[in-house]
Amino acid sequence: MKKGKYGLTTKVLMALVIGIITGILVYNMPSGTLKDTVLVDGLFLFLGQVFLRAIMMLVVPLVFISLVNGAANMGDVTKLGRVGSKTVLFYLTTTAIAIVIALTLGVLLKPGIGLDMGAVEAVEVTMRDKVPLVQTFYEMIPNNIVGAMASGSMLQIIVFALLTGVSLSLLGEKGAYLANLFERLNDLIMKLVEIVMIFAPIGVFGLIARTFSTVGYSAMIPLMKYIGTVYIGLLIHATVVYGSMFKIFSGLSLRTFYKKFLPAMSVAFSTASSGATIPVTLEITERDLGVSKEISSFTVPLGATINMDGTAIMQGVASLFVAQVYGIEMTLAMMLTIVLTATLASIGTAGVPGAGAIMLTMVLQSVGLPLEGIGLIMGIDRLVDMARTAINVTGDAVCTTIIAKSEGGLNEDVFNS
Ligand code: ASP
Repeated sequence: MKKGKYGLTTKVLMALVIGIITGILVYNMPSGTLKDTVLVDGLFLFLGQVFLRAIMMLVVPLVFISLVNGAANMGDVTKLGRVGSKTVLFYLTTTAIAIVIALTLGVLLKPGIGLDMGAVEAVEVTMRDKVPLVQTFYEMIPNNIVGAMASGSMLQIIVFALLTGVSLSLLGEKGAYLANLFERLNDLIMKLVEIVMIFAPIGVFGLIARTFSTVGYSAMIPLMKYIGTVYIGLLIHATVVYGSMFKIFSGLSLRTFYKKFLPAMSVAFSTASSGATIPVTLEITERDLGVSKEISSFTVPLGATINMDGTAIMQGVASLFVAQVYGIEMTLAMMLTIVLTATLASIGTAGVPGAGAIMLTMVLQSVGLPLEGIGLIMGIDRLVDMARTAINVTGDAVCTTIIAKSEGGLNEDVFNS
């Protein structure tokens, strides 16, 4: 494939702008065959749906395969003992905190109020019936795994995948072949994601053009509010949460940390990929922050795979955004489910552009929110993806530095130099 003149980010951003302009122009056109049949319910709908459906097609296999892999590798992690369990605990706790912040901001700032998506997509709003809280928990266990996959019951798929992965690692030598097979399947699914993402600019154009041609300028404000809310969440997490973690667990200066870590954040911002940033994160944690190679070579790749605080913030805000857009009241049980699924989703989210938005479908599905709401978010996801990826990798480095300090693997002279 010939590499184009522009990178994917630039192309998606251009598609976004062109989509908005086209949408607004079409919005102001008189109704008629050209506007309604050819464009809004023709070309725009087609381009957007092809992209959305291609993404949804990948969700179940992606979640299942990447979680089996993640859990199988975590099996090794427990063998690594104290450092391993501390790291995993740290990663999961910060992610859960991130979602709580996101949900709180979503409730307070109400980004989705004021946009009538009902006008955009005539969706049957499927409200979940009020169920006893315990039911939410026991229903996490599938009584039929094929049924769970067919209906896309994400929590059930996650539980089965985690059990499969852990069992696989317990099989040891006997499971090696299968574990290897799952790794290859993971490569395959990553390739599929990459291919689908090639069409992201066209899909984004279709989605955004259709939204704006149907609701006109009124879509602009809620979308800006959504982006703004996510950015505020990311900022709070990066300063307050990481700041207090640094203070409590290491006593090191967060400022010094950020001064040195900024290059990695910029790489993450421009590539929107934690995976692609691994080499830079490793280099900086070792050379500039003074973390021993033994620690960072374990915590950084693991973090890039399972630790996605920024993504979790996006998923929390996005869930509330969708609920608000469709006028669905978010219950406490729904929020708890979101904290749980989004934390697990972060383990399963690959460190590649756009993966978090794919996993968002599973978070929405877990509480019965309409998946169509993703259409709107998808259009502007790249703008959010870049920033959340920067926070994803920051979380890895914060954890790495703190673990290193507590394990005597941090050269403080280098850190402070
Ligand atoms: N792009 C993010 C990352 O690589 C994942 C996501 O889409 O949220 O960390």
